[in-house]
Parts: sequence; structure tokens; C-alpha cells
Amino acid sequence: MEALRFHELGLDNRLLKAVADLGWEKPTLIQEKAIPLGIEGKDLLARARTGSGKTAAYSIPIIQNLLESKMTVSEQAVRVLILVPTKELGHQVQQMVRQLTAYCARDIRVADISGQADISAQRPILMEKPDIVVGTPSRVLIHINQKTLCLRESLQALVIDEADLIFSFGFEDDLKTLLCKLPNIYQSYLMSATFNEDVKALKELVLHNPVTLKLEESQLPDSSQLTQYHIQCEEEDKFLLLYTLLKLSLIRGKTLLFVNDVERSYRLKLFLEQFSIPSCVLNSELPVQSRCHIIGQFNKGFYDYIIASDEQALSDSSVKGKKQAGKKKVGKAEKGQDSEYGVSRGIDFQNVSTVLNFDFPLSVDSYIHRAGRTARANNPGVALTFVAHTELSLLKDVEEALGGGSAEACVLHPYRFRMEEVEGFRYRCRDAMRSVTKQAIKEARLKEIKEELLNSEKLKTYFEDNPRDFNLLRHDRPLHPAIVKPHLKNVPDYLIPSSLRSVANTSLKKKKRKRMQPGPSKAPSKKMRKTRDPLKTFKYAKGKKRTDTKKKAES
Ligand code: AMP
Repeated sequence: MEALRFHELGLDNRLLKAVADLGWEKPTLIQEKAIPLGIEGKDLLARARTGSGKTAAYSIPIIQNLLESKMTVSEQAVRVLILVPTKELGHQVQQMVRQLTAYCARDIRVADISGQADISAQRPILMEKPDIVVGTPSRVLIHINQKTLCLRESLQALVIDEADLIFSFGFEDDLKTLLCKLPNIYQSYLMSATFNEDVKALKELVLHNPVTLKLEESQLPDSSQLTQYHIQCEEEDKFLLLYTLLKLSLIRGKTLLFVNDVERSYRLKLFLEQFSIPSCVLNSELPVQSRCHIIGQFNKGFYDYIIASDEQALSDSSVKGKKQAGKKKVGKAEKGQDSEYGVSRGIDFQNVSTVLNFDFPLSVDSYIHRAGRTARANNPGVALTFVAHTELSLLKDVEEALGGGSAEACVLHPYRFRMEEVEGFRYRCRDAMRSVTKQAIKEARLKEIKEELLNSEKLKTYFEDNPRDFNLLRHDRPLHPAIVKPHLKNVPDYLIPSSLRSVANTSLKKKKRKRMQPGPSKAPSKKMRKTRDPLKTFKYAKGKKRTDTKKKAES
């Protein structure tokens, strides 16, 4: 059967215009099923893989129903509550609702109370009774208890997004208390990437005769959209290979680099810094404003590389198999970390061309959530995973889970790379690895927290008045405790393996190309064509060297 179009779903024109502005041609599978049911007022339990468009799948019917009810009821009240497990997701949901209500922003107001640390600052926002409130269960409960938020009379719909994380993030008690403060009748949406025990428990708590949408979608896009590779390499080779891939631009476009803990994320950042490769670190120690700002800027194309540590996955109930009794906020695992933080889950990094697992994710779920950061909506993507021999059993688990239980079905193709060809880089990599000492990492970690706290707190008011300056604030500046050796910035031609010369794209070459070929559409000149043939480049390379030396002499 032909898939339905947005205009066939009976939506208000203002919603249709907003959807058109977002450039969405047709509803995703989950949207096609959930929107009509939501508009009908049905309770929904939906399993949708990450990046499937689930936020709009509940937001669109909610906005449509609000627009309709607003035609008859004039009194302003909070009518929809969207509960999320993390602040980042709260921010993102609010953004999505704002985009969808762009043409009815006066009629429908949304407030996200998950992100701001200061509870008193949220009071005036809630006093205006926004139609939709987004928040973590704890924060919402605080406001209900303080009577700054009252839902008993007015609530029409409740959403629990990323429902499978709500309990494991320590919100079980708060959520149960909160549910007692809601009216008897309201529509509920439970959105979840997996149907685990927690979701079953939640289903009993909040849903009445729900329609269950277990869409026949695989957990990740198929191989025509998402190409998955793995390569076996040990610790030093991981750094060497990453250096080669990034420095020779063998990986292009926006890339998410995943490691398994915060310390390692700084190790990688400082290592890349040695070669003047800028990257941002995203971790739970940073203030939420910084994290949202980093993700926002990454989505706008300010940065190519984000290094994300995915420690939350370690505490995910699906990883541990069962809940820890009486546990409160698993994110408190490491001192100073924010308990309502999650990178690989829920967060929408846009247009990521490659997910690179520098460390193998610690569970199948975690692999799926990381790989799901690329090839979103209808875009193509690559997931490349480095596997040390100690991680081989995890690779086997992922292969089995994704290959439908058959160990033979190869989902992660071998990434063929002849490591012996990049031996020439090993010395400089070792050198860089040596410079990144434990002390340097500790200092970088502290320095970044201090700087980000300053950015997000002290400068908050300034940036509110000067949003353009906020855009200029960057998070990928060098942290520099390790001494950076300037010569490592460039890759000497003689070190580039001959087999990679045609594909490698060093910064030196880029500059040269820019000078020689100003417009992208301009056909390569005769001279350029000649330079592509290594046999004809000898003279040219000599000339280049001369220019470089001359430059040095001048400077
Ligand atoms: P979500 O699963 O809600 O995090 O959405 C993943 C991404 O898909 C977001 O960047 C959305 O903007 C995008 N998206 C949602 N619905 C559609 C659609 N119908 N067509 C194209 N992109 C969409």
C-alpha cells in the first residue's frame, strides 16, 4: 500500500506549513501509524528505533489536538506534559515542538524545564501556563510540590519519551509520585527504543487499552543506507589508524568518535590536538548549556569531530540485565557527572556521515544507539568500529544480534586497511601518545570544565543579549597542556603511502587546490591533471618544496 502523505493525515494547515518548512516530504513509518491514532485520542505504546522520527510522531498529533481544543476552550493551562530522561533530550524536544508550532506559536506555547539548573528562574515561565511542558520527572515533581505547576485539572496528554531509560536513570520513585498528582483521565504516549521490563512496568502504570506499535523495522537502517565496518587493531594501532584516517581525510564529513569513558575522550582530544586536528569533547561533566551548545553548533556545521564518551550506557538497565534495587540516578557513577546526561540515546546529531567506535561499545544496545547516530531519516552513513582482541566477544554479540541470530551473516564488513603501509606514521603517533600524559589529561579535563562553567553561567546573561557572540563561542579550541609540536601539523609527502596518495587529502594539498582551482565547478586544468599522475609530479613536488623553504626563510 502507498504510504500516506502529511496532507492526507487531516492536519491543520499551520502544521502542514511547518512540516513543509522542515523539508519533510512524507511521514516516517512511525509517524504514519502514530499520528492518526494520536489524533483519535488512543493511548499508544510505540517502539521506534533511534532516528525514526518518533518525536514528531507524538508531537504532531498533540499539537493538532491542542489546536482543536483551543477553538472551544479559551482558558490558558498546561495541557500536555512530556517527560524525558535527559536534559539534552528535553531541549531537543522543545526545539522540535517549536519548529512544528512555528505558524501557531501564539496559540501554542512550550516550555522546557529540564535544562535550567535554577528552579526559581523557571517559576515565572510556568506562571504563564505554557500549553506544553517538557521536563525530567524529578524537575516536574519539584514544581508540582511547590505548586508552581498544577496538572490535576487541565492535563490532556502525557508523553514518556525514551521510556526504557526513565527507570534506569533513577526516576522510578519520582515518576510514581508524579503520576498520583495527575487527573484520572488523559491520553498517554509511551515511546521507547526497546520493550524491556521497565517499559512493561510503565505500561501498567500509565496506559489504558493502548495500541501497541511494534513496527517491522530493523533496529538499524539496512546496508543500502548504513554501511558498517570493523577493523581489528590493538591500542597503539587504534591511534595510528585514527590519525591516518583523519589526517589524510580518508574519513570525510561530520564524525562522531565514541570512547568508553571521559578520561579517554580527553586522551583522544589531546592526541588529535598534537596534530592540530580540532575536536570537541562531549561528556556528562560539562554544564548542560555547553553540551546543548556543542550539539547545536555541530548540527550547524561548526565542527567536524565530536568525541563522545558514552558512560551512561554502562548503567543502562538493558546492559546490566536487571535493575539495581533502590538505586537512585545511575549517572552519579562518577563524581561530578550529571545524572541526566545521555549521548548515544535520544540526542539528535544531524547529518553525521561517520560514527567511529574508537572503543567497542559495551553492549549490543549501545552499539545500536551509537551507530544510529548516522544514517538518520533518509541520509546515508558509515559506522566504523575498531576492535581490540579483548573486544572480539562483543563484536560476536553484535554480529549475532544484527545478523538475526545467525553467526554467519556478516553485518559488519571487514574494513580492509593495510596497516603496514602507514608504518611511517607510527613514530609520530607514538610521540604524540607519549605527550598525552595522565597529568595532561587531568589538567585538560579541569580546564575545560572551568571554561565551560564560565561560558555557561557567568556569560549567560551576556549571551542572551548578544546571541551573535554566543554563536561565535567555540568548544574545539586546543586545551594544550601537552606541548604541541608544530611540525606534526603537516604530513610530509614522503610519509604518505603511495597507495593512499590519490585519495589522501592533506591540508597542504587542500590549500594548493584552493589556490589553483577557485570554483568547485571549474574543470581541472591540464597542470592539475598532470599532478594527479605520480610519475609526472616529481618536478612539481620539487618546486613545492622550494616554495616552502622560501616561505620559512621569509618568516
Ligand atoms: P527523532 O527520531 O525524533 O530524533 O528524529 C530524527 C531526525 O529525523 C530529526 O532530525 C528529525 O528532524 C528528522 N525527521 C523527523 N521526521 C522526518 C520526516 N518525516 N522526514 C524527514 N526527516 C524527519
